[in-house]
Amino acid sequence: MTVHITSKITKLQLHHPFKISRRETDTYREVISVEIDGGVGETAPAKFYGETVQTVTAALETFSSKLDGNFDEIQDVMEGIESTIDGNYAAKSAIDMTLHDRLGKKLGVPLYKFWGLNPQKTPCTSFTIGLDEPAVMAEKARQAEVYPILKVKLGTDRDIEVLQALRKVTDKPIYVDANTAWTPKEAVQKIHQLAKYGVVLIEQPTQPDDIAGLKYVREHSELPIIADESVKRASDIPALAEAVDGINIKLVKCGGILEALRMIHVARAHGLLVMLGCMIESSLGITAAAHLTPLVDYADLDGNLLISNDPYTGVTLENGKLILPNRPGIGVLTTT
Ligand code: MG
Repeated sequence: MTVHITSKITKLQLHHPFKISRRETDTYREVISVEIDGGVGETAPAKFYGETVQTVTAALETFSSKLDGNFDEIQDVMEGIESTIDGNYAAKSAIDMTLHDRLGKKLGVPLYKFWGLNPQKTPCTSFTIGLDEPAVMAEKARQAEVYPILKVKLGTDRDIEVLQALRKVTDKPIYVDANTAWTPKEAVQKIHQLAKYGVVLIEQPTQPDDIAGLKYVREHSELPIIADESVKRASDIPALAEAVDGINIKLVKCGGILEALRMIHVARAHGLLVMLGCMIESSLGITAAAHLTPLVDYADLDGNLLISNDPYTGVTLENGKLILPNRPGIGVLTTT
């Protein structure tokens, strides 16, 4: 039997043009929402990982011929899908998320309750400031008054200037994300300077495949190093465990909630810190990830805060703390 997967592409408009070290400025981002038997999910493919809305649409078509209708057994469904095509984790994440929403609704429980998690234990999310002129980034930080933690994209020769400008307008904790821009030696020098400006952690200072480089940075730096682009799946973690202090897990990068849960446990077994991150996504994808946050140290779940046409409401913020919806499944409502 072929199961029909309904999918729809949505253009999410950004409040501000968004830039990181390796990419040109974006003004919108495309996501794909999926519906299967009453469950809804979403994915935000990233070119960096070789996926686009076109590859996701094609993968979903392939998956639909493999789904047999036994949707309650999400483990089996995902194993079946994993064996059909390699990679395509953003597409796989859409299926996994949709089936979790469906099952939560069927059982009448929010996802956090389904996993036995305490909704009071969610962290505060950071709010991301994209790369720009130091004065513009400082102005954005000033406008981000309601968010208690900032995540700042760096990776240019003006990195220290940016921190100087930010510290004129805010004393909040700052996470720095270099998005692979630095060499190991450069990273050590910069981190040494950044540490003086109240930076809490450094995300992905160097190239993704250079694990020795990350290890060098970690051994010579006073701030925790969090891997993002270097780690996609649970199987990537053991090789990285000595080279970093923590990992950033994203549903669309790893293939969905089941893999994210595996990653959290594997990371903990290696004594690593865990951040749960996101792409630019609507409240559908962000809320799904937010249900896992009682298990993590850091949440960077602000994709929905950066857009002006969110089709959903779900997780909300109270002084930056993630407040999970107490509705079955992911628990989002449409904002028509
Ligand atoms: Mg990152």
